[in-house]
Amino acid sequence: MTIKEKIEALRRELREHNHKYYVLASPTISDYEFDMKLKELQALEEQNPEFMDETSPTMRVGGTVTKNFETVVHEHRMYSLDNSYSREELLDWEKRVLRILGGFTVNFTCELKYDGASISLTYENGELVRGVTRGDGFQGDDVTANIRTIKSVPLRLKGDFPSKFDIRGEIVLPIDGFAKMNEERINNGEDPYMNPRNTAAGSLKLQDSSLVAERPLECLLYGITGSKLNFSSQFDMLLKAREWGFKVPAAAKLCETTAEVMQFLEYWDIERHNLPYETDGVVVKVNSLQQQEELGYTAKSPRWALAYKFKAEQAVTILNEISYQVGRTGAITPVANLQAVLLAGTTVKRASLHNADQIAKLDIREGDTVHVEKGGEIIPKIVSVDLSKRPANSIPTRYITNCPECGTKLRRKVGEAQHFCPNESGCPPQITGKIQHFISRKALDIEGLGSETVELLYKEGLINNYADLFILTKDQLMPLERMAEKSAENLINGVAASVNIPFERVLFGLGIRYVGETVAKKLAKAYKNIDALMVATANELEMVDEIGERIAESVVNFFEEEKNRDIINQLKEYGLQFSLTDKQLDGQTDKLKGQTFVVSGVFEKVSRTELKKNIEDNGGKVSSSISSKTSFVVAGANMGPSKKEKADKLGIPIISEDEFLALIN
Ligand code: AMP
Ligand code: ZN
Repeated sequence: MTIKEKIEALRRELREHNHKYYVLASPTISDYEFDMKLKELQALEEQNPEFMDETSPTMRVGGTVTKNFETVVHEHRMYSLDNSYSREELLDWEKRVLRILGGFTVNFTCELKYDGASISLTYENGELVRGVTRGDGFQGDDVTANIRTIKSVPLRLKGDFPSKFDIRGEIVLPIDGFAKMNEERINNGEDPYMNPRNTAAGSLKLQDSSLVAERPLECLLYGITGSKLNFSSQFDMLLKAREWGFKVPAAAKLCETTAEVMQFLEYWDIERHNLPYETDGVVVKVNSLQQQEELGYTAKSPRWALAYKFKAEQAVTILNEISYQVGRTGAITPVANLQAVLLAGTTVKRASLHNADQIAKLDIREGDTVHVEKGGEIIPKIVSVDLSKRPANSIPTRYITNCPECGTKLRRKVGEAQHFCPNESGCPPQITGKIQHFISRKALDIEGLGSETVELLYKEGLINNYADLFILTKDQLMPLERMAEKSAENLINGVAASVNIPFERVLFGLGIRYVGETVAKKLAKAYKNIDALMVATANELEMVDEIGERIAESVVNFFEEEKNRDIINQLKEYGLQFSLTDKQLDGQTDKLKGQTFVVSGVFEKVSRTELKKNIEDNGGKVSSSISSKTSFVVAGANMGPSKKEKADKLGIPIISEDEFLALIN
C-alpha cells in the first residue's frame, strides 16, 4: 500500500466511524480506538502535506480564525414559513393547496420544526464546499470553517449524490450539551446562556473555529435544491439525504391525508419533550416536488409548506418562598421555590427569578399564584402572576440587602444585573466554591478529593483557601468523619501529584472571574509565566487575542489583591507550575508580533496546520479572510482565484512558502 492509499483508507474508515457515531448514534469502535486512528492519520498528513484534503476527518478540530465573515448571496433564496396555531388553519391551508392544484390528490410529508439556526450547505462532487447562514434570506455569512467542525455534517458524501446541490438544515444544540455548557459557565463565574437556539446561532459566528469544535452542535437536514436531482418527492429527498450520510431525524413521516397529519401533530406535541433537542412545531409539506413547483412562493414563504407551532406549556402553581443562592464568585441568584407541579413531563419545584429587576417587573410575592412556562429555557421561568388570586395580607417582596450566607452588605455594579456579596475571603460558599473549582477536572483535577470533602475540611477549619490543601497532613485528616487511612492517603497523594499540572490549567484553577479554560490558555501562551502576567496592565492584556476590557480588568483586579499574591507565592513554594515548560516554549518567538496572515493553497515543505502553528508560535495571527488588516497572504499551489484578486486589489503582499519560512528562520 502506498502512503496515499494508506491515508485514503484511514480517511474512509474514520468517516465511516464518524457517521456511525454522530449520525446513526451507534458506534462500533471505542472512543480510544477512534482517537488512535485519528492521530495516525494526523501524523501521516503532517508528514505528507501534498495529500492535504479539506474533507479529511482531521479537519474537524478547527483552528481557523475568521474576523469578518464573507457575505454570500444564496443561489436559491431561503424563505420563511407561514405559521399556524390551530387545526382550522391547517385545514384552510389544505383547501387552498387543493384549489391551486385543481383537483389532484395531495400527500404530505410531516417533519419536526427544529429550533436552532438555519444553514445552507453547498456540495460539489460530494464534497462540502460552503456553509452559509440564512441571513436575511437573500444573503448570509460564509461560516464554512465553523461548519466543518460539526461532526454530523458530512465533509464527503457516499452513494448516488447529484454533482452539485444545496442542502438546508438547522444547526441545533442538544439540551444536554447546552446544560453542560451552562454548568461550566456558571463555574467560571460567567452568566449562563439563555437558550439553546440563540447559543447555536451565536456559535456559528464565533471567530475561532476550534471553539465551535468544542460545542456539541448538530446539524439536522430537511431540504435540497439544485438541478438534476434524482428524486421527485419531499419524502424521497429525505431518504436520499440520509443515504448520502446526512443526519435526517427519523420522525419524518409520509401522510396521505390531513387526518394522518393531525395524528402526527398530536403525537409529537407530547413526545417532543423526550427528544434530545428542542422543537417548536411541525412543518407540513406537500410531498410531490412537481406540485411544490406548481404552488410556488408568496413574497416571503412557500405555499407548499406550513409550520404548525406547538403552544409553550404552562402550568399554574403557588410561589412558596423566594430564596437566594450565592455562587463561587459571589453572584446572588434569586430562586422561586414552588409548590410542585407537573410541566412538560417533569415535576417542577423551582424556577429562576434571574435578578432584582425581574422580581420588581413581575411584582412577584411569596404566596402568589404564578404561571410557569417551559419555553426555550431549560430552567422553567415565571411568566406572570395571577393578581386576582393574591392573598389580602400579601407583602411586597423586598430584595435582600445582605448576603444570606455571611451577612455582608450586597453590592451591585453599574450596568450589571446581578447583586453580589463582596466578602470574597469570608463568605462560606465563595470560599468552598473557589476551592471546588480549583480541584475540578479541567483545573488541577485532584484525585481523592471531592466537593463534599472540601466542605467538610472547611467546616473543620482545616482549609480556608486552595493553598491550604498543600499543607494538610494525614494526622489532621484521620479523625474526620468517613475518612479512612486509605482515603486520607489518596487525598494527600492527589494533592501532591497536582504539582505536575501545566501552567494554563493552574491559571484556570485560580478562579479569576471571566478567565475560563480558553482564556487561561491564551493568557498562558501570551505571557508564558505568572510573573509577567501579574504585572500586565489592562491595556497590554487587551492586546491579546480574544481578551476584552471586562476580562482584562478582572485579571488586573485579581493580581492587585495582596492576599491573592500571597496565595500564589505559597503555591509557587509548593512547586506548582507557574510557567510554560521548555517544551511548550520551544520554537516560540515574537518575530511576527502584530502581523496577521492569511494562508491559502497547498504547500510543499510544511502542512497547512504546521504553517498556521508556525505563525502563531512566532506571535502572529492567522485569519481566514483577506481584509485591509492582513499583513501577508502566504500562498501555496492552487491559491483560490478570488483570494488572489482580493489581495491584489487591497495591495496585500503575497509571499511563498519559502519566503514565509525565511521570515521566521
Ligand atoms: P420561521 O423562522 O418561523 O419563518 O421558520 C422558518 C425556519 O424554520 C427555516 O429557516 C428553517 O430553518 C426552520 N426549520 C426547522 N425545521 C424545518 C423543517 N423541517 N423544514 C423546513 N424548515 C425548518
Ligand atoms: Zn456572603
